[in-house]
Amino acid sequence: MTDIIKEILKELPAKSISEAVFEGANIVLYTKDKEFFLDNKGAIRNAVNSVKKRIELRPDPSICMAQEEAEKEIRKIIPEEAAIDQIIFDPERSMVVIEAEKPGLAIGKQGFFLHEVRAKTTWVPLIRRKPALRSKLIENIRGVLYQNSDYRRKFLDKVGHRIYDGWIREKKHEWIRLSYLGGGRQVGRSSILLQTPESRVLMDVGVNVADDKDPYPILEAPEFDIKQLDAVIISHAHLDHCGFVPYLFKYGYRGPIYCTEPTRDVMALLTLDYVKIARGEGRDPIYNADDIREMVKHTITLEYGEVTDITPDIRITLYNSGHIIGSSMVHLHIGNGLHNLVYGADMKCAPTRLLEPAISSFPRCETFMCEATYGGKDCVLPPRAEQEKHIENVITETLKQGGKVLIPVLGVGRAQEVMVVIDHMVRTKKIPDVPIFVDGMVWDVTAIHTAYPEFLNHTIRKQIFHKDENPFLNEKFKQVASVKERKVVIEETGSCIILATSGMLVGGPSVEYLRNLSDNPKNSLMFVSYQGEGSLGKRIQRGEREIMFQTTGKPELCPIKMGVHTIEGFSGHAGRKELMDFMKRIDPKPKRVLVNHGESSRCLDLASSIHKQNRIETGAPRNLEAVRIK
Ligand SMILES: [Zn+2]
Repeated sequence: MTDIIKEILKELPAKSISEAVFEGANIVLYTKDKEFFLDNKGAIRNAVNSVKKRIELRPDPSICMAQEEAEKEIRKIIPEEAAIDQIIFDPERSMVVIEAEKPGLAIGKQGFFLHEVRAKTTWVPLIRRKPALRSKLIENIRGVLYQNSDYRRKFLDKVGHRIYDGWIREKKHEWIRLSYLGGGRQVGRSSILLQTPESRVLMDVGVNVADDKDPYPILEAPEFDIKQLDAVIISHAHLDHCGFVPYLFKYGYRGPIYCTEPTRDVMALLTLDYVKIARGEGRDPIYNADDIREMVKHTITLEYGEVTDITPDIRITLYNSGHIIGSSMVHLHIGNGLHNLVYGADMKCAPTRLLEPAISSFPRCETFMCEATYGGKDCVLPPRAEQEKHIENVITETLKQGGKVLIPVLGVGRAQEVMVVIDHMVRTKKIPDVPIFVDGMVWDVTAIHTAYPEFLNHTIRKQIFHKDENPFLNEKFKQVASVKERKVVIEETGSCIILATSGMLVGGPSVEYLRNLSDNPKNSLMFVSYQGEGSLGKRIQRGEREIMFQTTGKPELCPIKMGVHTIEGFSGHAGRKELMDFMKRIDPKPKRVLVNHGESSRCLDLASSIHKQNRIETGAPRNLEAVRIK
């Protein structure tokens, strides 16, 4: 038995606990004593205070009421106004998930109804909000977790043993090292290996969708050994940060993936889409749906601000980074006070229509890793109101001449931001009343937004709770669900607005629309997000006006006669000024800043300016470089 469990059991009445297991860093105790389950008289709280870990007490499955009976009881206890939808039992963990339209009413004053459910059924109830838009994907993901609940239980226990069983590697000196396997002086394939004497942790492992030559992180680096890997942390669900995760599972990784709940869901969705796009283009995908299922099975989700051990010498906390739903800055407390590292990943330091700005205050921070997507001196982003005005103008002008507006969007983040902006323009009658089509991966991601309103900002959260104000339920938005429907939009529909993935015109429906709309000067192409080096979007932005398309095998040359517009600064990334201000504001001030995730000149420029402004050590490591931070 692990020492920590022995210590806890010493604190509790003899024979009250039938089993003790780990769920990751959490300790779960099971009891066969119903009275002790319902009232442990502060015993658990005392144990928590003495070991300073999260401990949960649950009934042993043998004393839980039969499921059918328990479901009847639950529906009797919880008032009808709460509008219960599904009730799902997780017998391995003695937990029951109750999905309700009004979770507050289901919980009751001071948790009254939850208490009743515990007392009457001897199950541990968990109330969850029923999403306003049903998402097949979320249901599938939860299905995978329930079907594998026996495996999950063993897996989470194994993770706990790795954390609590003591050191497995030899410690002669204290040191911490970061190796850049991708994302060093580039945007795309972000991946950084963190090594300490005891731990091997990967922060992000993405793909570069805009680059055919070097699309994957450099896992052949000598310091990387998949068999030695203890944990993977994913900052957010963009493919350049998470697109390679299933590949690790294909090659035998079976350890934990840490991220927020929306990140897990969107990550599953985008990697499935990545496979589908590869197949659609006649390429062999680098992994398949089975590997993605393994990824989901091994994901441990964390809330913002939740402090969790991930190895014997690393403790993690995720903070909002303001970039997309569920996106995080990763705070790592290493070696019991030895060093604190914050991986900022992709961040937005100003509020957007969807999200609160990135957090800038941490318990401790000696090294900060900063992105530089818009970190160069040249990256002056116009004010938000100006950007929205620009969008409004392009739409109004195009519609006036009877054209179509094509907006290539990243399925996650920009798409929903644009939807909220357009919804606002429609409601305030700033743009004409035309159909708005949404094509590609966007719809499912939007459903995920409505499922996790607590990750969005205050205004949008309030709107989501009111059916009539929920921007994502605006009937103006019409989903294009098939090739046939797309054809109708292109050939038979007049003036309209089209939001389609991919955002950089690297495959997906946006390229289809472009091919069909490009030769009409009345139409407009509007870029609202970052265009990666090598992407078709970037080439058009640079002025290329004749594009070779590969359709059903034979190449076709299309002139770009439609209007091309770029909304400068309408981005989920912080601009230069935001980043410099953030560095002034960040609390505490780090001793070192390492810049990544930006074109080479922008990384160097930002690193040098941060050094001059703050008098701290800075650097912009290249891929395959390693930095010793302690
Ligand atoms: Zn991103």
